[in-house]
Amino acid sequence: MTKDSEFGPRLIADGNLERCSICGYPFRADVKPSMSVAFAEHLLKAHKPGQTTEDVSQAAARIVREATED
Ligand SMILES: [Zn+2]
Repeated sequence: MTKDSEFGPRLIADGNLERCSICGYPFRADVKPSMSVAFAEHLLKAHKPGQTTEDVSQAAARIVREATED
């Protein structure tokens, strides 16, 4: 496993929910407009790049970028 996949923010399945790997914040499976966008927004609000560790910040920025590419 790489360092990124061990410590980077990601969604963890928990029954009908997905949870933020950093804080455990729950996301409904039917969240709008999509799980990836909701997670990206959560990272921006709750784990602002620059206010978290460098690893988390970089991973969060990557997820946000990927989720908002359209
Ligand atoms: Zn979180």
